[in-house]
Amino acid sequence: MICVAIANQKGGVGKTTSAINLGTALAATGQRVLLVDLDPQGNASTGLGIPQSQRERSSYDVLLGDCPVDAAVVASKVPRLDVLPATVDLSGAEIELVEFDDRTHRLDAAIRANASRWDIVLIDCPPSLGLLTINAMVAADRLLVPLQCEFFALEGLSQLLSTVERIRERFNPGLAILGVALTMYDRRNRLTEQVSTDVRAVLGKVVFDTVIPRNVRLSEAPSHGLPALIYDHRCSGSEAYMALAREMIQRLPKPAVDAAA
Ligand code: ADP
Ligand code: MG
Repeated sequence: MICVAIANQKGGVGKTTSAINLGTALAATGQRVLLVDLDPQGNASTGLGIPQSQRERSSYDVLLGDCPVDAAVVASKVPRLDVLPATVDLSGAEIELVEFDDRTHRLDAAIRANASRWDIVLIDCPPSLGLLTINAMVAADRLLVPLQCEFFALEGLSQLLSTVERIRERFNPGLAILGVALTMYDRRNRLTEQVSTDVRAVLGKVVFDTVIPRNVRLSEAPSHGLPALIYDHRCSGSEAYMALAREMIQRLPKPAVDAAA
């Protein structure tokens, strides 16, 4: 099992959209995937059509109670894609976690306890660098960072990278950046192109070749409780996420992705 956290403390950059559609794309290649919804907003759970009635146990109970991941996961409509859903309870978790001595490692311990059930675990992080995201970074082998193609794209990235460095030193030496994914790319907008060129110049090879276009189907799909890859598998957004998943698999350590070979 390999664990990839999708993180960026900025909101609205495409973390959840990437988590849902990469999860779906990876499941389509034969991987058994778990998507951990770690955002109190629960957008990944909603976007995958998990109703509140199926969130009796959630990522909150796994982090703060003694609920095993196994007992809280829900099957999505996508074959091989399971979800550990989130509820609003999670909004109090950052404060409640402080009480625990093992507060930074609770998610890691819970995921490792069920490691054999999935090939890839994706974590959809909230838009902050608090204890929830730290739990994700401690659990993760790799980090995927969505970056929106806008003027301030790189702003905040140094803060994210210094958090990663701190986690590496203190808790998780194996944590590495899998890649930076440019999202909401608009070919008709010259600024987008400029931003993409600048980001590649600064960050180099860590940036994925695949860019995710701005595509209305990607934003419509969640209101139908479906990944774009099922709602409209031929739209430009779906095709881009399939390509990004392929690039992702190439960058992941090999034993973890044998099933996709
Ligand atoms: P985050 O999880 O980082 O806050 P989201 O994935 O929720 O970001 O995306 C923020 C908003 O932008 C959502 O309404 C989503 O549907 C929309 N969105 C995300 N990616 C795209 C895209 N490539 N094209 C069009 N809309 C997008
Ligand atoms: Mg989100």
